[in-house]
Amino acid sequence: MARRLLVTSALPYANGPLHLGHMLEHIQTNVWVRFQRLRGRRVAYFCGDDTHGTATMVRARKEGASEEVLIAEMNLAHQRDFKAFDVEFDHYGSTHSPANRARCGEVWAALRQKGMVTEREVTQLFDPVAGTFLADRFVKGKCPRCGTPDQYGDACESCGSTYAAGDLKDPVSTLSGARPELRSAPHLFVQIDQLRDFLKEFVATPGRLQSEVENYLTNFFLSEPLRDWDVSRPAPYFGFEIPDAPGHYWYVWFDAPIGYMAATAEWCEKTGEAFDDWWRSPDTEIVHFIGKDITYFHTLFWPAMLKSSGFELPSRVHVHGFLTVNGGKMSKSRGTFLLASSYAEHLDPQQLRYYLASKLGSGVHDLDLDLGEFVAKVNADLVGKVVNLASRTARFVEATGLSEAYPEDGGLFRQAAMAGDDIAEAYEACDFARAMRTVMALADRANEYVDRVEPWKLAKAPERAAELRDVCTVVLNLYRQIVIYLAPVLPGLATKSSELLGAPLGAWSEAATPAVGTPIGRFSHLMQRVDPKKVEAFLAAHAPPAGSEEAAAETAGTATPSSTEDDGGPLAAEPLAAECTIDDFSKVDLRVARVVAAEELPEAKKLIKLTLSLGGGVTRTVFAGIKSAYAPASLVGRLVVVVANLAPRKMKLGTSEGMVIAAGPGEKEIFILSPDSGAKPGQRVH
Ligand SMILES: [Zn+2]
Repeated sequence: MARRLLVTSALPYANGPLHLGHMLEHIQTNVWVRFQRLRGRRVAYFCGDDTHGTATMVRARKEGASEEVLIAEMNLAHQRDFKAFDVEFDHYGSTHSPANRARCGEVWAALRQKGMVTEREVTQLFDPVAGTFLADRFVKGKCPRCGTPDQYGDACESCGSTYAAGDLKDPVSTLSGARPELRSAPHLFVQIDQLRDFLKEFVATPGRLQSEVENYLTNFFLSEPLRDWDVSRPAPYFGFEIPDAPGHYWYVWFDAPIGYMAATAEWCEKTGEAFDDWWRSPDTEIVHFIGKDITYFHTLFWPAMLKSSGFELPSRVHVHGFLTVNGGKMSKSRGTFLLASSYAEHLDPQQLRYYLASKLGSGVHDLDLDLGEFVAKVNADLVGKVVNLASRTARFVEATGLSEAYPEDGGLFRQAAMAGDDIAEAYEACDFARAMRTVMALADRANEYVDRVEPWKLAKAPERAAELRDVCTVVLNLYRQIVIYLAPVLPGLATKSSELLGAPLGAWSEAATPAVGTPIGRFSHLMQRVDPKKVEAFLAAHAPPAGSEEAAAETAGTATPSSTEDDGGPLAAEPLAAECTIDDFSKVDLRVARVVAAEELPEAKKLIKLTLSLGGGVTRTVFAGIKSAYAPASLVGRLVVVVANLAPRKMKLGTSEGMVIAAGPGEKEIFILSPDSGAKPGQRVH
């Protein structure tokens, strides 16, 4: 039986519009889905909006609208954006649907029946004005360890320590500005450790996870008992009330992945398919595409839920890195929080699909959107190499069509046909960058051929008409192969090209046999060059007006109300410290250091691991809480100032041997200090 695939992309959160970071994931998944279909496999591709949780509730209160209205509007906006990027689903659902409620109930009943649910009191900060418990992200205060103000309730961005929200000094609710109080409420937990042996086997199954993901899970989670998973929230909460625990709601992360099943169920309803053929059949392979930030939800909690309730397990979970823009994290204040709808207004979505594909390897690395490189690459590859093949030949055979027999071409067509297996293997492994490189090498060879045979010269000699027809037949067949190989990435180009070539390009196997004797349509523009002015206009659309709310507000996808404490300026936010003497100051040994390595730690949300050189072969390892503001690669080579005699501090990830000094309140607003040029590593700062 042919492989039947059920493929999902992670559900975007219903609290904001789609940005290019979402598109990285959905384009990636969609390319893979289109590839599988081109290979003749049956694929159902599902997604939907993730709707529940405090953030939606808070936004609805702020806007004075109901949650249902907000999420319905957002669902339509998301679907519109996906369509503009040729990302097509078999069904796009919502976690706030009767189908999802029903499946949640089914999974829940199974967990209860297996004795995996337990109840415990949880003490949490409660906002007495807003009348709600506060997730860590909705509390700010001074770090209990180092005293840095304006830190979130889970970890300090300045010193990197982690703590419970209740330990923050002078805590403030970011919802109402009120001082939160500690209150306790019963929560329901899933005792996931009961399934630890199963999960060890799950993550170690060959082909299921990328090796770096498997190692991360094995070393950081599965080597010790798994903590019980808190899956309920007391009212008020926007979500589904738990049937056997009135006043309590399933936590958003409980119902979100079940949304994949709900979307399937709605599609089955529509098409007459049987749900169990897709979720309870060994003939279906379930493949999830996700970002690295939600790895453990999909590789620990989710398989535990599926296993307990008798559903098929995912055969593959493909994890990808984040999208950065021009070397930095996407940021509203820097004008790089790029919205999908705005991109589609200014630029060609196909070209972004190609650019991302050309940079997507099979690993978990972040991918940088460098807009200068984008312009250069799209123009050189797609316009200069690929489309050019058709534009330099098609018009010469408009009247005659292709030759009746495929002419001698020195082995070019055969070589390109043979490359099909390599390209397919790269697609299968999600190494799209390798697939694109191989295709572009074929395009290079085809262009060399065109340059050698010079069809435009043949066209001037009427007695060489047969030769001209043969030459164009070769080039258009090489073009056709290339377009088939690119079709998962560029479905629009494939459609236009099939009109030009008078035949559908709907199967991978068509690249193995040349087309002969077919009529050629009228040549029309297949793709425009990227106009750098349009890129500028696209970027300009995101530049926040100075002093605007966007300039202060940050991170999207998450409702992070901006702090109002900045009203009196930085001095008011952080008053001057008590006086110290010159002797006090000289106890602190500040040194110039050069960053020789900066490592991203997938397991750390905020930290970057820096290797600093103090000159003379002396290096220091420092874990700096600057990930929200700096891409690791942008740090390598620069000079910084480090507190060199700070007592080493043991952290979960290793020992930090110093501190890099920086200004700013945190998040995107962290500014590392550096000496003027000429300073040398090791020099003391006096
Ligand atoms: Zn701290």
